[in-house]
Amino acid sequence: MNKVRTRFAPSPTGFMHVGNLRSALYGFLFARQNNGSFILRIEDTDLERYVEGAVDVIYSTLKQSGITFDEGPNEGGAYGPYVQSERRDIYLQYALELVEKKAAYYCFCDKERLDGLADATGIKRYDKHCLSLSEAEIAERLARGDKYVIRQNMPTTGFSEYDDMVFGHISVPNEELEDQVLIKSDGMPTYNFANVIDDHLMAITHVIRGNEYLSSTPKYNLLYQSFGWEIPKYMHLTPIMKDETRKLSKRHGDANFDDFIRKGYLPEAIVNYIALLGWSPKGTQEKFTMAELIEHFDVKGLSKSSSIFDEAKMKWLNGEYIKELPFAKFMELATPFFEQSAIKGIYDYQKFGKLLQSRIEIFNEIPEKVEFIVNFQKFDSELYQNKKLKIDSEVAKVVLETINPLMEKMDVWNEESLHQVIIQTAEELALKSGVVYTVLRVALTATNITPGGSVEMADILGKAESIRRLRLSLKWLRE
Ligand code: GLU
Repeated sequence: MNKVRTRFAPSPTGFMHVGNLRSALYGFLFARQNNGSFILRIEDTDLERYVEGAVDVIYSTLKQSGITFDEGPNEGGAYGPYVQSERRDIYLQYALELVEKKAAYYCFCDKERLDGLADATGIKRYDKHCLSLSEAEIAERLARGDKYVIRQNMPTTGFSEYDDMVFGHISVPNEELEDQVLIKSDGMPTYNFANVIDDHLMAITHVIRGNEYLSSTPKYNLLYQSFGWEIPKYMHLTPIMKDETRKLSKRHGDANFDDFIRKGYLPEAIVNYIALLGWSPKGTQEKFTMAELIEHFDVKGLSKSSSIFDEAKMKWLNGEYIKELPFAKFMELATPFFEQSAIKGIYDYQKFGKLLQSRIEIFNEIPEKVEFIVNFQKFDSELYQNKKLKIDSEVAKVVLETINPLMEKMDVWNEESLHQVIIQTAEELALKSGVVYTVLRVALTATNITPGGSVEMADILGKAESIRRLRLSLKWLRE
């Protein structure tokens, strides 16, 4: 068998949608697990859709995702150029070969005529009008400089069939196939033509792409046959849905890679999650490194039904990745989010980082998770209520009356010394230490939901601020 060659062929539209990234990922996994080559080809023949800088977005996304190429615009390779607009002359030459073979023909029909072909439902279908032009007429019109397109001459009887690696046998009656445009009036090829020429010239063995191309593939196969070329294998991927009925839209900003990164997702988690959108691994494992994905990826696990993008699941997975980060790396990634938070320039990021690493699923939760620490305001003594520990406002008052002076006298303010003073207070009052910890936490933060306990809170606040708050809390209890 030929060496496996797969490709990712994005159009430079400005951002990387999760569906595109998944096509890239599967192409990459399939190439790597077969010791094949993975090729990047930029499909920029639709000049109207071209967005400046879009190729950089593609490169940076793939780099962050750990998807590497063997050949491409920047990598070079023996099958270049890898940017379609630089291959313009190649397409025209092949289109003319098809014209020679009568598998394609010049069409000079103007917009008015084409518009007039619309049926009652508005569907326009080309009627092969220009197929009957004589050689002389064509030569004359070309010499005159008339605008033209080149169309594929579809057979009108029989069926076109192929076997898709995901969807199985596909069969389309040829009479349903329109004589699609191969070369547009601006001289550029359509996707429908360029994909065939390039996949052949780049020796692609497996075409992995979205299933919006599933039903056009018979037309492409007819082109391969007209040239006498070997047809590649196809893997068409089901769409990724936003919910039961709506496709994840390219305009739905949340579905693009850069937005996820900005929100604080880790590229490894995104890639891992996307790998599972439409592919079910054999066992129950859900967390996969790239090396594991390369090992386990299997066409047999590709789904025929669409998959729903579940951000909650991706968040969960991201949380698992965050927990495993070395602390220094966690802090490096968390710092920009602390910088945007209410504790900026007030409290220590590292101390909070230690508490939050296991408590967040996504980095942008950081600002909301730390906000409480600056919101210290008069609060209702109900907050001290704890049935299990038998705490009420009286108990709280006694605890603070005892512990406040002890804490004021502390010279060394750290977690160890704070624990000691709490235990000492509990002993003096013959209370469980849990009671003292709990009262102190509420008195220090004016809330009973905090990441970490009273000792960590007092340590973050520092002595001066802790004492100020404890005095106020006691005062409020006495009012
Ligand atoms: N340029 C096409 C797209 O972005 C690629 C489809 C393919 O992989 O052939 O949809």
